[in-house]
Amino acid sequence: MSVDYKLSGQAAVVTGSTSGIGQAMAAALTREGVSVVLNGFGDAAKIEAERAAMEAAAPEGVRVLYHGADMTRGGEIADMIAFAARELGRLDILVNNAGIQHVAPVDEFPDDKWDAIIGINLSSVFHATKHALPLMKAAGRGRIVNIASAHGLVASPFKSAYVAAKHGVVGFTKSCALETARNGITVNAICPGYVKTPLVEMQIADQAKARGISVDRVVEDVILAAQPNRTFVEYDQLAGMMLYLVSDLGGAVTGAALSIDGGWTAA
Ligand code: NAD
Repeated sequence: MSVDYKLSGQAAVVTGSTSGIGQAMAAALTREGVSVVLNGFGDAAKIEAERAAMEAAAPEGVRVLYHGADMTRGGEIADMIAFAARELGRLDILVNNAGIQHVAPVDEFPDDKWDAIIGINLSSVFHATKHALPLMKAAGRGRIVNIASAHGLVASPFKSAYVAAKHGVVGFTKSCALETARNGITVNAICPGYVKTPLVEMQIADQAKARGISVDRVVEDVILAAQPNRTFVEYDQLAGMMLYLVSDLGGAVTGAALSIDGGWTAA
């Protein structure tokens, strides 16, 4: 079934979109006619090739730009939002997606990893939202989608910083939704279960080390054991939820933390 989300001509920023879920979200938006500012780390030539390919595959007139803001730095995030508004002339959609993970027991958790996870996974959502909201309020419409996690709703061992940050994202989402409910703006969190991205591939290796078991056993007994349908969430399924939220169809949904996790958080 094809759905017309009526997004053509809009403009978006997707943080952490040089890989995984963010890249899939950005590509889905461009296919719907939305110009996008990509962001994230990686090899400069690869990022440029991806940017150009996304623009070439999009409907005519769609622009795909790149801004290399480091999500641990509020000033750079402010600059990225200003860049989007200046270059694209508007900002309709903000997808706060950048995130990292580190797996270790609390009493061995490195201080720098704690600070990085809170900075990238939680504080960056505040900084980007803070600078996007005045533009959205002035336009009388806006859509903010925060990529939280099933770990925004429930916990797992060895992921204290990530769980704390993602619970923080869900709380921040609710607060922003209440503040903007009369401004034509919606703010929601998507809470995915496991998606097979580079971040998860790394976690599989880390969990194997932390638990002293094989990579195959981690996938079987740890990763997919949490997900009752025993199936990774697909990029298209996440993009579909995001497109619904940012379209007019999703206009009545705000302050929600939407699970897409094969039943994980139903338990
Ligand atoms: P990924 O590692 O594939 O991509 C992460 C992106 O964030 C990359 O583009 C990376 O360059 C960027 N990034 C990292 N640090 C950055 C920084 N300091 N500044 C700017 N960009 C930075 O990860 P992913 O699995 O696609 O995860 C994306 C989001 O989805 C994260 O917030 C993650 O917590 C969340 N999530 C992922 C899963 C999963 O199973 N993969 C499940 C639930 C939630």
